Amino acid sequence: MLSTPHLLVGAAIARSIPNPAISLPAAFFSHFVLDATPHWDGSPSAPFSKKVVGGAAADYLFGATLIFLISANDPRQIVILAGAFLATLPDFILAASRHFPILVRKIPPLKRFNNYHSGIQVNVRLAKGLLSAFATCLAALVFLTR
Ligand SMILES: [Zn+2]
Repeated sequence: MLSTPHLLVGAAIARSIPNPAISLPAAFFSHFVLDATPHWDGSPSAPFSKKVVGGAAADYLFGATLIFLISANDPRQIVILAGAFLATLPDFILAASRHFPILVRKIPPLKRFNNYHSGIQVNVRLAKGLLSAFATCLAALVFLTR
C-alpha cells in the first residue's frame, strides 16, 4: 500500500489509544493488515529507479506533513508522529533489505520477516487499489480529526 494510508492509520491508532505501549505496537502491526487488503503500490523492485524513489518520497512527505499539520495543537503530537512512522517501518525494513542484501545475511530473522511481509500483499489494478487507499485515508482522517 502507499505510504499515506499507512501513515494516517498509524497516526489515527496512536491518537485513539491513549497508552503508547499499546498504540505504538498496534500502529506497527496495522501495516500488515493494510498490506493484506487489496491495494496498489506499483510493486517496485530493487534496485529502485529515481522515479520510484521520488514518488515514494513525495507520497511519504505528503502523508507525514498532513499528520504534522493535523496534530499541530495536540500535546501528544510526538506519539502520533511515532505511530505514523511505525506504521511504515516494515516497508523501510523491506526496502533496506532489498537494497542492502548483506543486512539479510547478517540478521537472519529479517529473511523470514520480509518473506512474511512480501507474502501477504494483495495487489490489485490501479483504480481499485487507489479507491481502497482513498477509503482507508478517509476512515483514518475521521479518527484523526474528531
Ligand atoms: Zn508493506
